Amino acid sequence: MIDEEKKAYMKKYRRDNLYLHNQYQKWWIRINPEAARAIRKRWNEKNKEKKRAGYLAIKEYPEVRDCEFEGCTNIGHRHHPDYTKPLLILWLCLQHHKSEHNRLLEGGVVI
Ligand SMILES: [Zn+2]
Ligand SMILES: [Zn+2]
Repeated sequence: MIDEEKKAYMKKYRRDNLYLHNQYQKWWIRINPEAARAIRKRWNEKNKEKKRAGYLAIKEYPEVRDCEFEGCTNIGHRHHPDYTKPLLILWLCLQHHKSEHNRLLEGGVVI
């Protein structure tokens, strides 16, 4: 397959898949309205918690610190190991922050 063809194919493939996924989701929501509502509610609550935690952490620790990873001297970001504890934060640089989130995701922790 030449490049142009390949690109067009991938574009179509992605669009079709997205369409199927959306259709499936709509169908699922229609037959599970209660569960869908509960999921949406939980997501909203989690998001609210997340936003609130971020806001409180910036208020409490306005100055930027270095990454807490041993030997790392990059600028840190505020990472929340637990969003229900907004003032408990770890300073992690972009790279270590990413790998920490990946680690948590692999462990089945949704953040
Ligand atoms: Zn984080
Ligand atoms: Zn780091």
